[in-house]
Amino acid sequence: MTSEAETRSTPTVDLEDVVSLCARRGFIFQSSEIYGGINGFWDYGPLGVELKNNLKEFWWQRTVRDREDVEGIDSAIIAHPRTWEASGHVQHFADPLVDCRACKRRFRADQLEEAGPCPAREGSSEHDFTEVRRFNLMLSTRIGASEDAASTAYLRAETCGSIFTDFKRVRESSRQKIPFGIAQIGKAFRNEINPRYFTFRSREFEQAELEFFCHPGETERWFEYWLAQRLRFYRELGFDERRVRTRAHGEGELAHYCKRAVDVEFLFPFGWKEIEGIHDRGSYDLTQHSEFSGRDLSVMDETSKERFVPAVVETSVGMDRTALALLVNAYDQERLPDGETRTVLHLHPVVAPVKVAVLPLSKKIGEPARKIAAALRRRWNVFYDESGNIGRRYRRQDEIGTPLCVTYDFQSETDSQVTVRERDSMEQERVSLAGLEAHIRDRLEEGL
Ligand code: ATP
Repeated sequence: MTSEAETRSTPTVDLEDVVSLCARRGFIFQSSEIYGGINGFWDYGPLGVELKNNLKEFWWQRTVRDREDVEGIDSAIIAHPRTWEASGHVQHFADPLVDCRACKRRFRADQLEEAGPCPAREGSSEHDFTEVRRFNLMLSTRIGASEDAASTAYLRAETCGSIFTDFKRVRESSRQKIPFGIAQIGKAFRNEINPRYFTFRSREFEQAELEFFCHPGETERWFEYWLAQRLRFYRELGFDERRVRTRAHGEGELAHYCKRAVDVEFLFPFGWKEIEGIHDRGSYDLTQHSEFSGRDLSVMDETSKERFVPAVVETSVGMDRTALALLVNAYDQERLPDGETRTVLHLHPVVAPVKVAVLPLSKKIGEPARKIAAALRRRWNVFYDESGNIGRRYRRQDEIGTPLCVTYDFQSETDSQVTVRERDSMEQERVSLAGLEAHIRDRLEEGL
């Protein structure tokens, strides 16, 4: 946990700076921008899609590929509507809502500190709130041509629903035994009352979820295990320890079936906020789906011959929130010895959108530099840039977090060496062309 003193010394980042960098350099910007945008929806541009894909790939590597006891799936966004009745979403997936009669804006009743002053009341800046109502966050759509209620379906509000309904099929086809997990990354949709803080609270977002199925008597052990794994993940990605903490849910906050919940929180410019939840869901999910589907989802322990409904430890993280946290964590404006300021993203190489930039010192030697870029492109996302002075080209790469720049100069023509410049230290070293690929690989994989 982070102490208060450490929190005070955490470098401050202005959200507006990150938002404007994201728009300027094409990481993330409003969806449907030319129509004035649509509230709660965001598009990832050329650099943003690379960043988010890298994050997803790293999560997948650590959660699925590195392990023998986790299987991955990619299920449909729309599931049988009974799925959401069984899970309790149709009835209970709601936030408390209030309207302001004066300014007509809507707020979550449990987040009124975010409401700010009312712009519409005379003689007072206080809102004139209505009674609290429950507002279901599930987005619905219609399937097929008929307009009757039977054709109503939901866009999933979380990705785990199909993990439970696919449990039996996946376990049998992969020949996994309890304990084992099923993981999935995919889109989720929530009709959030008040989308805000850039991508932090959106109406369409991506989740990466793991449901780990175990014996009901073993959930505590697995909870500790997965919590430790997840915190390791954030350390590996280079998160500033002062910006990450855990927060256990109090009894009153827990869903009725949830025995324990711990949030991983990140210190955003707008305060400590959840980026991931780790939950002990007991046997609730498989029991509910057994009941609603009429299918037996229990398993038999072959040694003890005991039959039981597996319990679940869940880790659920938002990829958009984590991508935003990565950007905030990495953002820096550094004063250089020459008095200039450079904007730099200290992104971990594993998530950096561009791994290497190849920069010929002059356009006249563009041809051999392009060949180097083409060779490196077989392995990494490489950016080739020959326009502008070299200092400015370095700055452009610093600003998007490119870990390494390879400069081809006139001397390279004769000594077959290039200069490799490192983003954070700005140190430069000469590297032979023959050893360039191995050198880059080693530098990018350092710390993993
Ligand atoms: P919050 O209370 O902040 O809305 P939550 O507790 O409802 O979050 P969960 O249902 O536990 O969130 O979802 C798991 C993760 O999915 C969250 O930690 C977050 O990273 C992500 N997530 C949830 N809702 C959103 C959203 N509206 N926009 C972006 N990411 C979201």
